[in-house]
This record gives sequence, C-alpha cells and structure tokens, in this order.
Amino acid sequence: CGIVGYVGDKQAANFLLEGLSKLEYRGYDSAGIAVYDGNHIRVEKSVGRLSALRDKIKDDMPKGTMGIGHTRWATHGRPSDRNAHPHTDCTGDFVVVHNGIIENYLALKEELIEKGHVFKSETDTEVVAHLLEEVYNGDFVSSVREVLRRIEGSYSLVFMSKREPDKLICTKQDNPLVIGIGEGENFIASDIPAIISRTRRTYILNDGELAVVTKDAIKITNRRGEPVTKKVFEVNWNA
Ligand code: GLU
Repeated sequence: CGIVGYVGDKQAANFLLEGLSKLEYRGYDSAGIAVYDGNHIRVEKSVGRLSALRDKIKDDMPKGTMGIGHTRWATHGRPSDRNAHPHTDCTGDFVVVHNGIIENYLALKEELIEKGHVFKSETDTEVVAHLLEEVYNGDFVSSVREVLRRIEGSYSLVFMSKREPDKLICTKQDNPLVIGIGEGENFIASDIPAIISRTRRTYILNDGELAVVTKDAIKITNRRGEPVTKKVFEVNWNA
C-alpha cells in the first residue's frame, strides 16, 4: 500500500519511518523496513500500526544508509508479521517491497518450490524475491528485467540487494511511484507526501519505466532498456 526507499549518507531508518508515517492516511495492516548496514540486510516488520514497528526497534534501530520500507494492505495472505513486507529470497541477499498484485504468483511459486525455494509467507509478493534469486546472472539490473518479463499483474516494486549494495532499483505498472531528487541522497516513494519534507524535486515514473537509484544518480530507462529523459516535476503544494 505504501512504499519508501532511501539511499544516501544519512541513516535510512529515520527517513523510512517518517516517510511511511506520511502515507498512513492510505490505511494499512502491517509495516516493515529493511536496512543494509554495509554487511547485512536487516529486516524488521510487524503487524499492526507503525507504532508497533517503532516500539519493536526503538532501542536497537537498524543502522545503515540504504533501505526500503512498506505499509501493507493485504490482498494475498492474512495480516501477520510473516506476511508483512519487505520480503526476502532464501539467501537474504535480495529484498523487495511491493504494492499491487502479482496475478501469476501461484504458477511461479510452484515452479520455484520445485527448484528448492522455501517460502516463508503466504503473499504473492514473496515469489518476486525468490524469482530474482533464481534468475540472478551476476548483474542486478538485467536480473530484475528478467523478473519483470516473468511476472504479470500490477505493481510498484523496489528492490535492494547485498550483491550490489550501492543502488535501489524500482519500477511500476498500474501503481504509482515517485523518485525524490536530493543532494548526495535520493528517495523513492509511492506518493509525494512521503518525500516532501526532504525534497520538492521529483521524477514521476510511467508504467514500464525502471530507475536505478544511487546516492548521486538516478538513471531511468524504458521497458526496452533505452534511457529516457524525464522532466523534473517540482512539487509546489504542501502536504
Ligand atoms: N499483494 C501484496 C500483499 O498482499 C501487496 C499488498 C499491498 O499493496 O500492500 O502482500
């Protein structure tokens, strides 16, 4: 339901929690964040209000300058800690947050289980993380593109990987996603209110566009992988 992402030189968890709180008006049943600390990706999630997640981590905040977060409105699998996003593959090297519905998740899940993947949740989203691990070819972006060729449905997606820990990859189809342009830091969110306190300069992604977001650059390509030049959208209203 709500998505946030951060890559920069500040503590990611601060923005992730703040950004998610700005998206609370959309309603949700659980929340979670994943932060890369230079070594590991730590995932923390909790059913219920954002305050439940905050309480869980307040004495031991995930440290690190890159991360993703999510508030969930369950479509597949009941509201629970396990079903909350972010979702990971078996190795824990790949994490994903997702808004929308992966229509062909059951067929993909069967195929992945046959290949030895062990699932931890009942969500449609978890197949995306396992599929990425399965098709990973040593290159994060082209592996994500392969995942996108295999999934059907509606989505905003943000991917983070330990294998290439300097970037977030995001894309969308029939669900909104915006990128906030900072200085030495960049932001991702499913809606503008999440980022407006940090920056008013944004790119609004179109269906099929994919962005590779590092702390100093945002590279956007179309479905065929060709670079697209986007206009900066300046937000001139207050959230
Ligand atoms: N279909 C996903 C789930 O049920 C995402 C729901 C959402 O958009 O929050 O976990």
